[in-house]
Amino acid sequence: MSRALIIGAGGVAGVVIHKCCQNSEVFTDICIASRTKAKCDKFKEELQGKTKTNITTAQVNADNVPELVALMKEYKPDICINVALPYQDLHIMDACLECKVDYLDTANYEPEDTAKFEYSWQWAYRERFEKAGITAVLGSGFDPGVTGVFCAYAQKHYFDEINYIDILDCNGGDHGYPFATNFNPEINIREVSAKGSYIQDGKWVETEPMEIKRVYNFDQVGEKDMYLLHHEELESLALNIKGIKRIRFFMTFGQSYLTHLKCLENVGMTSIEPIMYEGKEIVPLQFLKAVLPDPASLGPRTKGKTNIGCIFQGKKDGKDKTYYVYNVCDHQECYKEVGSQAISYTTGVPAMIGAMMVLTGKWKKPGVYNVEEFDPDPFMEALNKWGLPWTENFNPVLVD
Ligand code: NDP
Repeated sequence: MSRALIIGAGGVAGVVIHKCCQNSEVFTDICIASRTKAKCDKFKEELQGKTKTNITTAQVNADNVPELVALMKEYKPDICINVALPYQDLHIMDACLECKVDYLDTANYEPEDTAKFEYSWQWAYRERFEKAGITAVLGSGFDPGVTGVFCAYAQKHYFDEINYIDILDCNGGDHGYPFATNFNPEINIREVSAKGSYIQDGKWVETEPMEIKRVYNFDQVGEKDMYLLHHEELESLALNIKGIKRIRFFMTFGQSYLTHLKCLENVGMTSIEPIMYEGKEIVPLQFLKAVLPDPASLGPRTKGKTNIGCIFQGKKDGKDKTYYVYNVCDHQECYKEVGSQAISYTTGVPAMIGAMMVLTGKWKKPGVYNVEEFDPDPFMEALNKWGLPWTENFNPVLVD
């Protein structure tokens, strides 16, 4: 008997909701709460009668802590799954502290007015969560999320020390639009237009956006251009995995996406600095989000596969060792199963699994943790069961 409060009703939330309803032995009750209640009600209408999970819905502004507290006091959830936007993370954590509710998210906190991606704000809650006896799991999507679990699994089973990690995120899907983003456009464009960075010998090395390019031949997708990006999990993995000398993150982009992004940047459309327009203050990036296709609408159009995983180099019993573990996910199969494309699917499934880990006691420990700090084995087993099976390769082609 577990009650989950799911905050947000967008692309990722849709997958979390479907997956919780498939797993009604663990998720006996869910409450879908978001800014726009009609979106929550739509999920309820679609799923009620097809699942044993009891579904309720609510309107909530997740930037308003007293509103969140009132909802939690009324619904009494065992866990709160935050799949709203990164801007809401701290407010939701504050409410969880007040109501003693476990917490899980898929993206680290970002202040809305600065593109600053780091865990410091959320790690500052550690002691308070410990004292309250509640668990916070940070970043339980795919990347961050499954990539961190892959690292913990490699460390536990295959290496004495891991010296190099390359995280490769390939989206071989085609939605047919000249330019669209696969998840929230504002969050996505903030991420890809920021400076790149990686960790070398314990220090951040900064690059210009998209400065470092490599080509990689991905299983079931083929050869793709990929670019080095800053990504939040590098910060926690460099601390939590033993022996790291260098850790990098690469994401694939097609030429059309990059050309459009460059033009939009050149004319100031990706800026997060407010400007005055006809007497009203607007943020150009938020305006751009309003005119781009809604990522949730890409499901029926997107064809092809994603391939996301990690390549490790390190030592076992004094010998050099390499290991690659990845998942391949088909956009159309996801759409048939839950009505979403693979980017939302690969994020929503691990969010459900992470919540299940906490609810079943496997990942229940008071404090604030990144996923790689827990036992990876039950999570890895659940990935195979719940739609994200993984493949291992002990002789992979390396990136450099
Ligand atoms: P969407 O924009 O599709 O959905 C966000 C939802 O949050 C919307 O329903 C929105 O409401 C709701 N929301 C926004 N602000 C508030 C608020 N103040 N109060 C209540 N609800 C609010 O985003 P996605 O589903 O694409 O992304 C969800 C999260 O997943 C993001 O944090 C994103 O960064 C993360 N993500 C993580 C990945 C990973 O692998 N780790 C990959 C992809 C995404 P409304 O419907 O009214 O707009």
